[in-house]
Amino acid sequence: MDHGHDMSIKPRKRLFIGLLLVLEALVALGLFLLWYVPARGYENLGRSLSVYTAWIFGGILVLFSLGILFLVAIILLGREVPGARRFRGVIIRYLLPVITALGRLAGIPKDDIRRSFIEINNEMVRSSSFKAPPKRILVLMPHCVQRDVCPYRITVNVNNCRQCGKCDFDQLTRIADRFGVEMTVATGGTLARRVVIETRPELIVGVACERDLASGIVETYPIPVIGVLIDRPEGPCLNTRVNVEKVNEALQTFLPRRFFSGETHSGQTAAT
Ligand code: SF4
Repeated sequence: MDHGHDMSIKPRKRLFIGLLLVLEALVALGLFLLWYVPARGYENLGRSLSVYTAWIFGGILVLFSLGILFLVAIILLGREVPGARRFRGVIIRYLLPVITALGRLAGIPKDDIRRSFIEINNEMVRSSSFKAPPKRILVLMPHCVQRDVCPYRITVNVNNCRQCGKCDFDQLTRIADRFGVEMTVATGGTLARRVVIETRPELIVGVACERDLASGIVETYPIPVIGVLIDRPEGPCLNTRVNVEKVNEALQTFLPRRFFSGETHSGQTAAT
C-alpha cells in the first residue's frame, strides 16, 4: 500500500530515475565527443571557441543534473514543491519518449517503464498540491472491472450498478456517491477522450492497465491525472480488481476538507 510518503524511493520509481541518469551519461558522452572531435578545428579558430563550447555543454549537463535532483526532491519531500506542475510537462513531453526508447533498447519490459512513469507522475501531481471541488473531479473507470456476468449496463450510467458486492464497482460507486465526484466507465480510449473533453475536469483519477494509463496521462496533459493500476488475477480485461483504498486516498488528497469530514454527502449540494 502506498500510504503517504515513506521517505524512500521505491524500486519502481528508481527505474525511471535510473534511466534518466543513463540518458544523462549518454548526453554527456555525446557532448564530449562533439566538443573533443573538432578540437583541432577550434585550435585553428582560436582557443576561446573551445572554451565557450565547453561552458555551454557543461551548462546543459548541470541543468540536466538539477532536473534529476529536483525530481528526487519531489519524491522524497512528498509535499508541495513549486514548479512541480511545469516539470511534469517536461517529463511527459520531452523525457518520457526518450526514456521509453532507451528502456526498450536495454530490454526492459514496456510495462515496467510505464509503471515507473505512472508512479513518478502521481508524485508530481501530488506535489503540485491543489484542491478541486467534487464536480470537477472525474474518476475514469475501465469496463473490465465490472463482473463479466453482471447484467446492469454501467457503461451507460454508473448509477445502474446495484452495489451487489460481486465486483469493485460496489465500493467505488459508494465512494463516488459519498464525495459527489463524477464517475464514468469508458470502454475505450476514444470514449475516454470524449468524456474528458465534455466534462473538462480539474483532476482525473484514472483507473486502468499500464498501457492505457500511461497513454491517458500523456494525452490528457496538462490536466493532472492520478493513476491507479488494476490487478488482473484472471488475465487481461476480465474481472479486474482495483485497490479501492488508493482511489479513496487520491480523492481525499484533492478534495477540500469539508467534503470528507465524516458526513455523508449528496451530489446535489456538492457543486460549488
Ligand atoms: S457491484 Fe454488482 S451490480 Fe455493480 S457492477 Fe459489480 S456485479 Fe454489477
